[in-house]
Amino acid sequence: MSQQTLGAYLDEDRAFPPPTAFVASARVRKPQVYRDAMADPVSYWESWAKQLDWFEAWHTALRWNLPDAQWFVGGKLNACHNCVDRHVAAGLGEKTAFLAEGENGDVRSIPYRQVQDEVSKLANVLKSLGVTKGDRVCVYLPMVAELPFAMLACARIGAIHSVVFGGFSAEALRERIEDAGAKVLLTADGGWRRGGVTPLKAIADEALSIGCPTISKVLVLERVGAPGSTVQAANGTKLVPTYEAGAWREGRDVSWKEAVASASTDCPCEPMDSEDTLYILYTSGSTGKPKGIVHSIGGYLTQTYATYQWVFDHQPEDVFWCTADCGWVTGHSYVVYGPMANAATQVIYEGTPDTPDKDRFWRIIERHGVTVLYTAPTAIRTFMKWGEEYPRRCDLSSLRLLGSVGEPINPEAWVWYHEVIGGGRCPIVDTWWQTETGAIMISPLPGITTTKPGSATQPFPGISCAVMLEGGEDVTPIQGALGYMQCARGETAPARGEERGGILAIRQPWPGMLRGIWGDPARFRDVYWSKFPDAYFPGDGVKVDGDGYFWLLGRVDDVMLVSGHNISTMEVESALVDHQGVAEAAVIGRADAIKGQAIAAFVILKAGTPMADGLPAELKAHVAQKIGPIAKPDDIHFCADLPKTRSGKIMRRLLRDVAEGRALGDTTTLADPAVVASLKERYEHLEG
Ligand code: ATP
Ligand code: MG
Repeated sequence: MSQQTLGAYLDEDRAFPPPTAFVASARVRKPQVYRDAMADPVSYWESWAKQLDWFEAWHTALRWNLPDAQWFVGGKLNACHNCVDRHVAAGLGEKTAFLAEGENGDVRSIPYRQVQDEVSKLANVLKSLGVTKGDRVCVYLPMVAELPFAMLACARIGAIHSVVFGGFSAEALRERIEDAGAKVLLTADGGWRRGGVTPLKAIADEALSIGCPTISKVLVLERVGAPGSTVQAANGTKLVPTYEAGAWREGRDVSWKEAVASASTDCPCEPMDSEDTLYILYTSGSTGKPKGIVHSIGGYLTQTYATYQWVFDHQPEDVFWCTADCGWVTGHSYVVYGPMANAATQVIYEGTPDTPDKDRFWRIIERHGVTVLYTAPTAIRTFMKWGEEYPRRCDLSSLRLLGSVGEPINPEAWVWYHEVIGGGRCPIVDTWWQTETGAIMISPLPGITTTKPGSATQPFPGISCAVMLEGGEDVTPIQGALGYMQCARGETAPARGEERGGILAIRQPWPGMLRGIWGDPARFRDVYWSKFPDAYFPGDGVKVDGDGYFWLLGRVDDVMLVSGHNISTMEVESALVDHQGVAEAAVIGRADAIKGQAIAAFVILKAGTPMADGLPAELKAHVAQKIGPIAKPDDIHFCADLPKTRSGKIMRRLLRDVAEGRALGDTTTLADPAVVASLKERYEHLEG
């Protein structure tokens, strides 16, 4: 991408200063934190690390030998101790750790003391199954409290967890188990989903029947009960629907309930080296074959702890709800490690947002008094599509802060989130980061930052992000970044700097950075460290505006080249979503003999928008007016669904395959393969 990138966002001039009432009790109120961190990032991160419990202090804060970083070298700690035991020791044993709501309506309130007991028992069970320090344990569970317990139990004894999202197929599970060489698998009979049951045990059995020779034991959580039996839910008894239960294999399969019942609650936390591996997690697979990202303990815990506290303005009485599943990095960093290292109280929810009705999320917020909500643009656009009537049914006045992660958020979706969910009163933190970065990298600090819809604003204190050109030239507008500081202090607005567009790069090591790709050092260097000689390449395009604000423009691979102009798919999508009738859009460049690439748009209308004949022309005109005639889509296809990863991201590469008549690439991480198949069929029908 070059600097010719069109500037749709320059039209986005809405700005939202932090509300006075919010600032009054905000954790961070002084922009000085940016200057302090910038002056000496390594000692700044040390000051965060010192807020954790260490069994032994580190002797060297950072050892950096590109691309290998080691943080807090020589230090010894345990992540589970920091997330659980130290809070109990500090008298917070009765504080609620989880308000865990099942889709079937059961609710459990679990205090930190109980988390400590459950995790210790489970850790002892893992030991009895032969798990020792450094072994990999694959976790394939629904989003119930036992999922974080499982992760923490591994951390407690120094085993490496590899969580696989409970919606993945047998083949995807097999691939991940084999890549990590996992010894033990933790799963459940099933999980409640959309009123039915996801048969996890049966899927796991299938995975194990087609491979996975390293798995010796399978610990099976009794979550839903036998098919056709009844279970006790909060709102009465419930019949368990028929599902494939899977066959019990004696000698391999172990009952979770029985094993835990006889296990001791006494299990000391293993002192771990700061650089020992905490976990492996496979990326979402939006761009290709998933990568097994490796994270270590000390640095990762430090950055998740710090970013949770400041970005989400942690207050001890908060009820935090991150809607991500622990199968994704967001669930690792902002359900387990970040919030729990801060002794937060949080909601976790097992099921889908439309069960039994499309108001489920808002009912949960009302029921538990959620104060901080962290969700994804894909969810927000879905709620927009369903309409305002659902959130309007509930009292959302407990909310005080909103967050977004996973994709660039279209300005219209941002404004909808702000108005309809946040009642116009809650700041929004749009957080940019990746599985690889481990923790939030670019985000507002809600008590300081004036936000602009669609911009993730500024790198977190202590993080150095740059804008690079294709050839590696650093064009980061320093003036803009410093100007932002002055703005933040309320001084006279500085002269606007020059806007710069290019590729995002990270120039300095950061504590939560990935330590590699599991078993594939060559791919690690190739994917992240070969684009620029001395900086990390995350793969995303960025623009920095005249005020030094970062606008993430999606994947570099998704940028279109139309008649010699670089146009970001994200900008055209946002222009489409800006139209009152559009809920969601995916834009791709397809090969075109004359222009190089032509713009194809796949559009989902909001519930109730009539499909008028003139609509395609109207949408094209809308984009032309928002961005410029060059960005006008050549074709518009209306559809009911878009191909998405299981984490909800649009898979543009598959749409390109469809539009260019190619065989579909890797579809194993697709949420619903039927969606892309039916698009392909319709497309070919139209073409033919
Ligand atoms: P793969 O790497 O396998 O293709 P993935 O990149 O989708 O999958 P994740 O690590 O879950 O896997 O997603 C990180 C990516 O999500 C980022 O690189 C970026 O493209 C996008 N992203 C996340 N948060 C934001 C945000 N706030 N604004 C813009 N983009 C975001
Ligand atoms: Mg990625």
